[in-house]
Parts: sequence; structure tokens; C-alpha cells
Amino acid sequence: MTTGSRIEWTEATWNPVTGCTKVSEGCRHCYAERMSRRLKAMGLEKYRDGFSVRVHRSVLAQPLRWRKPRRIFVNSMSDLFHDAVPASFIRDVFRVMNEAPQHTFQVLTKRPERAAALDAELCWTPNIWMGTSIESPRWLSRLRILRRISADTRFLSLEPLLEPLPDLSLDGIHWVIVGGESGPGARPMEPGWVREIRDQCLDDGVPFFFKQWGGVSKKRTGRVLDGRLWDEFPRTSAPESHSGSQRSALRPASRSPRAEIQGA
Ligand code: SF4
Repeated sequence: MTTGSRIEWTEATWNPVTGCTKVSEGCRHCYAERMSRRLKAMGLEKYRDGFSVRVHRSVLAQPLRWRKPRRIFVNSMSDLFHDAVPASFIRDVFRVMNEAPQHTFQVLTKRPERAAALDAELCWTPNIWMGTSIESPRWLSRLRILRRISADTRFLSLEPLLEPLPDLSLDGIHWVIVGGESGPGARPMEPGWVREIRDQCLDDGVPFFFKQWGGVSKKRTGRVLDGRLWDEFPRTSAPESHSGSQRSALRPASRSPRAEIQGA
């Protein structure tokens, strides 16, 4: 079953892994954890172990059956690079992505160090976008690790943005998403923090996507910044027939050359 998504920057979700453990402040109100508990209570077999890390071989081939090109968020309910996910399974996930060039796969992790450690074993076809989440200056180290990963397209999800990021460098980064925390207990995000990042993206030619202001009711606060929506996406060499407003934007001049495709 899929899998359409209400997440503004993707079109579908694919969860060959479910469950996770918290690594930093950004995890405090983890949406995946809340959802896993709810789905377990509803009796869904895939979530019978709640938020414990589980791999699901039965859904591995799912994207191969979707003919229409989609932007697919990989593991919205987990973190593919969690230590409890066997390296052999991660390689299998990559094989599926390699065999589905019609899709764009958006892999997002708070554990880029494991992705970097496995980098040479993975085949980074251009349809795989690799991102990391950063919520505060303390975690800018994730960005430095992300730069070492061979993905053609590397992105940042600055959500939930909990502090300003005045020392953010976008060198080697091809897309930036910003969002405030939403739901019960949401921590506030200042407009000035968002504008600073937006302006840096404009200066550096990096596509900027403003996902939401967040708050207890994200519907009420919306996603307009300075009178407009910011729905930019990276320009890619993957098929661009996705629905929605895929706008091209200039790559940063400092972008590294296309990585060599490596054998899995
Ligand atoms: S890394 Fe992501 S999925 Fe895992 S606990 Fe943190 S927010 Fe949740």
C-alpha cells in the first residue's frame, strides 16, 4: 500500500524500514514515533512492534511497480542509516533505487556518518538525493559529513529549526528545506532565522523550499514567507515529469563534479 504523501516536498513515501531511536533535540517530538504508535493501536501488522527498528523485505520492490515517475521520500517512518539496519539491507534498498530511474528518491538521515562509512559500497545513481537534518548549530557537523557523500544531489532539511544558523555554509549543497516544528508542544521558530537562510540561498543560487511555519496548528500558520510560497527544487538529470511545481534553479558554482557510479 502507498503512499501518497502530504509532506509538501515529496509525492509518495516508501518505508522498507520502520522504527528509530532519538539522536538529538530535533527528535523530541518525532512525528514518525507518534504515527507508529497510532498505527500499532490500529492493528497494522507492519507496526506491531511500534517504533522498534524493523526491516520489511515485503515492500522492497514497491517502487518498481510504480510506472508514473514520482518523488519518493525513503523511510518517512525511520532513518535508513540507523545502526540497527543491516548494511546488506541498505544495499538492497539502493539496488531498488538504482533499478527505478523513473523516480527520484529523497533519502533523509540524521546519521550521515553511517551513510559516509557505507558510501563506497553504494551505487549513487543520479536519481538518489541524499539529505541530512539539522536543527541547531550544534549539528552542523552533519553537513560537513554530507559533503563527503557521493550523491549527485545533496540537500539539507532544516526542520524543526530550533535556533538560528548564522554559520551555515552551502558549499556543495544543492537544495535547502526549512520548516518550523508543528503539533503539540511545538517549539517556536523566528522569522528572522528563516529569512537569513532564504537570503543565503538566493545569494548562493541554491533552491529554497519553505515547508511551514509550524506551531500547534500548522494549517493556521501556513507556509507563506514575505508574501509568497517558496517551492523551489533542485535541477536534476533524473526525469522531470513529476506533477506539481518543479522549478529549476541554478546549481551552486562550487558544486562538485558528478560522482562516479560505484558498484554496490
Ligand atoms: S532520526 Fe528522525 S525518525 Fe529517528 S527519532 Fe529522530 S526524528 Fe524520529
